[in-house]
Amino acid sequence: MPEGHTLHRLARQIDDLFVGRMWKVTSPQGRFAAGAALLDGRAPEQAEAWGKHLFVRVGHHVWQVHLGLYGAFSFRGDESFDGAATLGAPRAAAQAWDIRRDDDGWIVPTAPEGAVRARIRSPHGWADLRGPSRCAVLTAEEHREVIARLGPDPLRQPEGATLDDMIESFAGRLARRRTPLAAALMDQSVIAGVGNIYRAESLFLERLDPDMPARQLPAEQAAALWRRLTDQLRDGVREGVIRTVRTPDPPPSEATHDYRVSSHPEAERRHWVYRHHGTPCLRCGEAIAARELQGRTLYWCPGCQR
Ligand SMILES: [Zn+2]
Repeated sequence: MPEGHTLHRLARQIDDLFVGRMWKVTSPQGRFAAGAALLDGRAPEQAEAWGKHLFVRVGHHVWQVHLGLYGAFSFRGDESFDGAATLGAPRAAAQAWDIRRDDDGWIVPTAPEGAVRARIRSPHGWADLRGPSRCAVLTAEEHREVIARLGPDPLRQPEGATLDDMIESFAGRLARRRTPLAAALMDQSVIAGVGNIYRAESLFLERLDPDMPARQLPAEQAAALWRRLTDQLRDGVREGVIRTVRTPDPPPSEATHDYRVSSHPEAERRHWVYRHHGTPCLRCGEAIAARELQGRTLYWCPGCQR
C-alpha cells in the first residue's frame, strides 16, 4: 500500500500540474460521474496530503482520494507535463502515443484503459486514477470530520504548531492505546501516513519490541520514534522510494553482514527487516521473523528488538 510519502509526492505533483488552472474531470468508468461533475470545469485551488489521504480543494468542495492497496494515478502529457509517470501501486508502463491537440489546444488523451475512476485533464496532459479505496467529493464540513479522525502527520506541521507539539500529540495518542506498539503505528488516528514498511523499519532502528503495549512506551522513546519516522518519510518524499538502510545507521562496525545483499546481488539493500524474514539480522545475526498482526505481516528481529 502506498505510504504517506507517496501521497505527499502525489499532492505536490497535482499541485504542480493542475492547481490554479481550469481542469476537466470525468469518470470514464462511470462510478465517479456525479463527483466528477462537481469538479469539472473549475480551477483546483490546493492539493495536499494528510497521511494516506489526498485532498484537492475546488471551490466549496474537497476531492478526497485514498489509494488503498491497489490505487494509483498515472500521468501523461507533453514535455511541460513532467513528474512521475505513476504514483501509487505499481502499474505497467504506458504505451507510446502521439501528441495530438484539439481545437482549444488541449492535449487529446488516449482512450481510457481499464477501469479509470477519474480522469483529470489540463491543456498539457492528463492523469488517470484507477483502483482507489475511496474517491469522493466532500463538503467543507465532511472534510473537517475526516481530518478530525486523523492523527498527526510527520510530513505536515500545522501552522503555529512546534515539533514538541507534534511529538506530544503522538505520545499522547500512544499513551491511550493498549494495543501492541506495532498495531498502534498502523492506526491512522495515532499517526497518519505510516504503513507496513515504515512501521517495521522504524521499530527496528529504534530497537523497539513490536509487542510492547503502546501506552508503555516511555516519552523519550516516543519522541525518538517520531523523529525517526519523520526522517524516513522525508527521505521517501525526496527519493520516491522507501530506503531505510543508510549508513551510518546503525554504525557499519555494528553490522554483521554486508549491506549489499538482497534478491538482486547487485542491488543495494533497502530495508533492514521488511520482507527479510528468515535471513540473519544485519545488526545482531538472529533470524528476522514475520507473522500476521491484524491482517498485515509484521517483520522484526527478535534478537535486538526487545
Ligand atoms: Zn537483530
